[in-house]
Amino acid sequence: MSLAAIQSRIDAACAAADRSPAEVTLIAVSKVQPADRVEAVLAAGHRIFGENRVQEAQGKWPAWQEAFSGVELHLLGPLQSNKVRPAVELFHAIHSVDRPKLARRIADIGQEVGRVPDLFLQVNTGEEPQKAGVPPSEIDGFVRDVRAMDLPVAGLMCIPPADEDPAPHFDLLAELAARNGLPGLSMGMSADFETAIARGATHIRVGSAIFGPRDTDH
Ligand SMILES: *Cc1c(COP(=O)(O)O)cnc(C)c1O
Repeated sequence: MSLAAIQSRIDAACAAADRSPAEVTLIAVSKVQPADRVEAVLAAGHRIFGENRVQEAQGKWPAWQEAFSGVELHLLGPLQSNKVRPAVELFHAIHSVDRPKLARRIADIGQEVGRVPDLFLQVNTGEEPQKAGVPPSEIDGFVRDVRAMDLPVAGLMCIPPADEDPAPHFDLLAELAARNGLPGLSMGMSADFETAIARGATHIRVGSAIFGPRDTDH
């Protein structure tokens, strides 16, 4: 467990970019990690975690939320409409909002439940066919649609193509967010969070660099 090492790399990246570390939220991505590794990070005092799958998170987090107060969960992976209710109940934020129908469902369930998670709209900055997210050309309209549903749009999220320099993708996301008046930028993972911080990230999603490699990836 190298939470402290990651935190000092975040501090250094912030100093280099003339930013305050308070502007950067570290989401520790705990998907498919063994329980003892997650518990070590909880015991070290970290409280903000990311998961990719609603069902996996439902299975393991309620017990940890009992044992450790103040846990905040972020959903990072694709969300199906039939999982919106448990997602709204469990997660503090959803980073993968990528279609109006899903936003509509979140708004409806939010009404019933009486609270709505912070929402990040996912942008497919590399326009990769297999990847979720709206294309950059459609984000302005999508932001408008979601705001018209009275939903809280916290910001934008991207996962750059694995084989490309992420910096231009982070810059594009920052530009799209700025022109829509959105403060949140969910970008940067284990391999590139320092670049993301230099480019304005407010939420970095770091898994393997904190917990070690995952046995099975998804
Ligand atoms: C798994 C995952 C991460 C963390 O990836 P690492 O490379 O382990 O840091 C971040 N964001 C999303 C959307 C993920 O699926």
